[in-house]
Amino acid sequence: MRVKTANSFDVVIAGGGMVGSALACALALEGFSIALVESREPVRKWPEDELDLRVSALTRASQRILHNLGVWERMAEMRVSPYREMHVWDAGGAGSIHFDSAEIGEPDLGHIVENRVTQLALWDRLGGLAEVRRFCPAAVSAIDLYQNRPTATLEDGEVLQANLLVAADGARSALRGMAGIVTQGWAYGQHAVVANVRPQESHRETAWQRFMPSGPLAFLPVNDGRCSIVWSTSPLHAKELLALDEAAFCRELGQASEHVLGAILEAGPRAQFPLRLRHAKNYVARGLALVGDAAHTVHPLAGQGVNLGFLDAAALVDILVDATTAGRQPGDLNTLRRYERARKGANMGMLAAMDGFKRLFSNDILPLRLVRNLGLNLTDAATPVKHLITRRALGTLGELPRLARLSG
Ligand SMILES: Cc1cc2nc3c(=O)[nH]c(=O)nc-3n(C[C@H](O)[C@H](O)[C@H](O)COP(=O)(O)OP(=O)(O)OC[C@H]3O[C@@H](n4cnc5c(N)ncnc54)[C@H](O)[C@@H]3O)c2cc1C
Repeated sequence: MRVKTANSFDVVIAGGGMVGSALACALALEGFSIALVESREPVRKWPEDELDLRVSALTRASQRILHNLGVWERMAEMRVSPYREMHVWDAGGAGSIHFDSAEIGEPDLGHIVENRVTQLALWDRLGGLAEVRRFCPAAVSAIDLYQNRPTATLEDGEVLQANLLVAADGARSALRGMAGIVTQGWAYGQHAVVANVRPQESHRETAWQRFMPSGPLAFLPVNDGRCSIVWSTSPLHAKELLALDEAAFCRELGQASEHVLGAILEAGPRAQFPLRLRHAKNYVARGLALVGDAAHTVHPLAGQGVNLGFLDAAALVDILVDATTAGRQPGDLNTLRRYERARKGANMGMLAAMDGFKRLFSNDILPLRLVRNLGLNLTDAATPVKHLITRRALGTLGELPRLARLSG
C-alpha cells in the first residue's frame, strides 16, 4: 500500500501554507510518503522588534495539534502571546460580554501567533522528516484524477503520482477549479484592515472587539504590549484608512475603539484583505480532498479560519490511517466521503454562525439593536451559557480528531 519511488508517493499535497504543512507533517509521522508542493519559501529572518502583519488567534485545539506535531515549543521560542480574557461590546448600545479563562479553570483562551512563526516552525519540522519531499518553489499546473493513480503535473513538467492528491492551496484554490468543484458564497461587502499598533494603556492580555454597523474592530494582544488590529469595514472606508498618515490613522482608531485602551501611540504598516464567505460544494472527488481555505473561507471576526483548517487536516489523517489499516485505498471515494462527512457540517455551522453575527451586528435597525444588546447582557449574566461559549471558543468541545486531543 505505502509507495515510495522517485516520483511516486502516498499523498501529494499542493500548498504548503499553515494547513498543508501541518497535514504533511501529520501524515509523515504516520508513515505516509508525502510530496509537498509549495510556490514560496517561508520567511526565515525578520528584525527582532518586527511583528508580522498577519496573525491568527489559535485555539487550544490548534495548540494541541501543533504540540502533537512537535512544533509548538519552537513556536513558543519565537513568540506566542496568550490571551486570557475577551471583551466584546456593541457600538450601538450598552450591550457587552466578557469571557475570562479563569472562570472555567483554564490558563488562557488561546494564543495570538504571527502566521510566519507557525509557518516556519512547521517548515523546519518537515525538513527533518525523511517521508516528506518538498518541491519548492514549484506549483501544480495540472492534475489528472482519471488515471489508476492520480497525478499532479508541476509547472516545469515534472509529474508526481500518488494515491491521493490534497488541495491545500488556499482560498483561490487552483486544484479545486481543475477538479471542477464549485463554491457557494458571497462577498461580505467588507475589507479587513490590519495593522500593529501600540496603545497607551496595557491590553491586559485581553482580546477586545467592538461591533459597529460598518463591521467589527478587534484588538488582539501581543506580549510586547502591542496589539494586532483587524478592522472590518466598507471597502471605501478601508481605502481611506490606508491612505491616512500615521497620526491621523491613530486618531481614527482611538475614536473607533472608544479609547478602550487609551490613545493609540503608534501604528505600523497597514494592509487590507477583501472578505468573502466561500464554501466548496464538495470537499472530495475520487483521488482528491480539499482542506483549509481551499474548502472554506470565513469572516475573521471570530478568528476561526486556520483553526478549522487544522481540524480538517487532523480529521483527514484519522480517516486515512483508519482506511489503510483496514486495507482500503486512501484515494477511494468512500474513504474520502467519511472525511467530508466529518468536516463539512462542522465547518458549515461555523460559517453560518459567523455570517449571522456579521449580519446581526451590521444592522442599525432599533429593535434589532435592542435585542442584540439584551442578548449580550443576558448571555453575560447566564454563567453556564457563557462557560459553554468559552469552551466552544477554545475548540475543545465535542468529538475531536486524535491529534487535537490531549496527549500525555
Ligand atoms: C484579516 C484576516 C485575519 C485572520 N485572522 C485569523 C485568526 O485570527 N484565526 C484564524 O484561525 N484564522 C484567521 N484568518 C484566516 C487564516 O489566515 C486562513 O484561514 C489561513 O491562512 C488559511 O491557511 P491555508 O494553509 O488553508 O491557506 P493559505 O495560507 O492561503 O496557503 C496556501 C498555500 O498554497 C500555496 N499555493 C497556492 N497555489 C499553489 C499551487 N498551484 N501549487 C503549489 N502551491 C500553491 C500558496 O503559496 C500558499 O502558501 C484570518 C484571515 C484574514 C484575511
